[in-house]
Formats: sequence, C-alpha cells, structure tokens
Amino acid sequence: MIRGIKGVKDTLPDEMPRWQVIEGAARRFSHLYGFREIRVPVFEMTELFARSIGTSTDIVEKEMYTFQDRDGSSLTLRPEATAGVVRAYIEHNLAASPTAQKFYYLGPMFRHERPQAGRLRQFHQYGVESFGSASPQADVEVISLLWRFLSSLGLPGLTLELNSLGEAGDRPAYKTVLVAFLKPLEDKLCQNCRRRIETNPLRVLDCKVPACKAATEAAPKLTDHLSSFAREHFEAVRATLDGLRIPYLLNPRLVRGLDYYTLTTFEVTTTHLGAQNAVGAGGRYDGLVEVLGGPKTPAVGFAVGIERVSLMLPEGSLPAAPKTVFVAGFGPQGLEAGVRLLDELRFLGVPADTDFRASSLKTLLRQADRLQATYCAILGDDEVAKGTLILRHMQTKEQQVIPLGKAASSIASLFLKPQ
Ligand code: ATP
Ligand code: MG
Repeated sequence: MIRGIKGVKDTLPDEMPRWQVIEGAARRFSHLYGFREIRVPVFEMTELFARSIGTSTDIVEKEMYTFQDRDGSSLTLRPEATAGVVRAYIEHNLAASPTAQKFYYLGPMFRHERPQAGRLRQFHQYGVESFGSASPQADVEVISLLWRFLSSLGLPGLTLELNSLGEAGDRPAYKTVLVAFLKPLEDKLCQNCRRRIETNPLRVLDCKVPACKAATEAAPKLTDHLSSFAREHFEAVRATLDGLRIPYLLNPRLVRGLDYYTLTTFEVTTTHLGAQNAVGAGGRYDGLVEVLGGPKTPAVGFAVGIERVSLMLPEGSLPAAPKTVFVAGFGPQGLEAGVRLLDELRFLGVPADTDFRASSLKTLLRQADRLQATYCAILGDDEVAKGTLILRHMQTKEQQVIPLGKAASSIASLFLKPQ
C-alpha cells in the first residue's frame, strides 16, 4: 500500500467542520474589512521566492520544495503566498488602479520542515495583503483584522506582539552595533547563529534555542536605533491600536524570518500550542514590490496557520449539526417514490439523504439513526398505495402521517422554523 507523504496530512470529513468555521470566519472578516479574494498558483519560478524572501533565510536555505521543470527551469512549491501575490499585483498592473488594492487568500503552502504537532510540510494559510497605503492606520487595519478574526473564534491564551524593524536605511547602522555585541558571544551560540552573525545577524534574535535566547538577552534593541520617521510611524501604530482597545505587548526581539519586512512587524502567539506557539504573523514590506520589479508601493499583510488555529478551536465555536431528513423508501413503489421525494426535498433546499444499500425498514431506520438525521420519512409500498408517508422525529420518536402529494413542501416548512 502506498502511504501519504510524511508531514502531508489528509483532512477527513469529521475534521472539516472546524476548517469550515475557520475559513468561513476568514472570508467574513476579510469582506468586513474590504479585502477581496485572490488566488495565485501553488508553484512559481524559484527566483521569485529567493529574491523576495531572501537567500539567507531558513525558508530559502533549507525549507523549499524546488524541482526542475522539463525545460530545465527551476520551480518551487510556494512556501508562502506574499511573493506570488506581489508578482500578480505587478504582472496585472494593479498599481494603476485608483483605489487601494486589498486582497486575501486561503490555500496550501509547502515547507520542508521536521513534522510535529502544528508543523507540517503541507500546511494551510489564511493571509491578507494591503497595497498602496504607507499610513500607520493601514498597519492597524491589518492587525485589527487579524486580532478580531482570531478573537471571534474564541481561541484561548492569545497575545499580540509588536515591534518595529525601522526603515531599510536604519538597519545597516543597527547591524554594526548588533554584530559588535554578538561577536564576543560567539562561543555561546548555536551553529546556525554563528553563521548568521555574518549572513543575517538579526535572525540571531529570532533563534529558538534557549542558550541563544539567554546569551542575547541584553542585545541592543532595534527600536533604539530607529529614524525619526520610523519612530513616529511606530508611535502612531501604537496610539491607534490603543484607541481601538487592541491589547499588545512590545517585543524588541520580534524580527521575523523573512527579509522583506520594514517598520511594523507583529505576531500573535498562544500559550496553548507548546513549542509551535505562533498562530499568525505579518508586517509591513514597503520595499518588496520594487524589489520584484514593480513601482514603489507600500504594503502590509499577515498570514495565519489554519492547522494551528484548528488545534486551538474550542468545541463551543463549532455550530450544531444541521437538521436533515433521511428518506426510508422500501419495496418497489416505496423506493421509487422515495427517490422522487429526495429530489424534491433537495430542490427545496432541505438536506436529504438515504442509503440505497438498505432494503428493509429496520436497516433503513438504523442508518437514519447513525447519520443522526432529524427526521425519517418512511415510505413503503403500503404508504404509496394510501397516498401518505410517515414522518418520524428521530429523537422524540413522534410520528405523523402526511399526504404524499404535499410531503416535500410540508417537510420543508419544518425546516424554516428555528431548531
Ligand atoms: P514558525 O516560527 O512557527 O516556524 P514562521 O515564522 O515560519 O513560524 P510564517 O512564515 O510567519 O511562520 O507563517 C505564518 C503562520 O503560518 C505561522 O504563524 C504558523 O501559524 C503557520 N505556519 C508556518 N509554518 C508552518 C508549518 N510548517 N506547519 C504549519 N503551520 C505553519
Ligand atoms: Mg518557520
């Protein structure tokens, strides 16, 4: 037997209601905030990710699924969607639109990681990208969408962490200070971080190895090296969040794994997911559109991991099972009338099902029970001869006889009433 790939999961029907609740809320909140859906391909030219995410990041260095196409070009399964959305934004000249372009997406991402709870090789994200506004209020709109969306799902133990990475121009000076701080500590750092001192020193602050965390406790803070523009931007973001009563925690170590971030960065963490404590994250990336060959365009976005949200979703956030009718048609005439009734019910928008493998009333009722149908419409040859059917409420066992001619519409009327 051929098994699925390690770290690549099936989502079976029993788990789907959780996903439907999460994706439904994602769509609802996106629309409430004026974001429209976009779908971009699951694979792109490798160069797109290398250039946008940055060559010395974990994703590009070791997590990408890259393969050669038949013509020799290098393609990669998307590890995240921002790069693809930005490419589409440039390619379709969406910058020419007089309105701000605000998009959301839902879909699978691929990273070669060590699989564990909440960390998969194919996982799913809900994300948004807001192009065109450099205003701190645009940052807050995106952060508030993320926060209100997660809060609406009743997820436990959430914290919004906030930082500013400054403008691109603030970074070289800070890097010098940081490297000077890190050099003498080299022996205390993990292998990766030692390498990062040269290639990407900011990422040392993001390292999850406890020894690295401890050694860099007193590292100089990027927020102490911001230009006055970056400082004012950050202060405006904070004041606006305060005004909306969205609580946050300043985290000067929050540098994020991708190169393209500038100014505001944020992450929502939870105390309920063990080591995989990041639920969603994002930030401003004012330089990326230009880096990928488009016009200079400010932008801000986030991405949320659906699997992690699903792991945390409380039972109370799941809707009650919908009301359904099971049609128990048996005997030659009963079966024929049953098939017609099913069609009529479905036409009227009533969820209706049967089991064509069962031929006796006893087995049909047992299946109705297993499927947790609200009602069972009993329809044997005798009923057809009398022009009636028996409608049984599966829980109360109450039965009523109704005329076959009006059966579909009278059953449908029961479905219009609240449960
Ligand atoms: P982490 O620090 O957990 O590796 P990340 O910084 O790599 O996360 P992002 O690239 O910011 O993650 O992606 C946004 C969100 O996508 C994360 O907060 C997380 O919820 C989810 N996510 C990222 N990688 C995975 C994965 N391998 N499996 C499941 N969910 C993931
Ligand atoms: Mg990661």
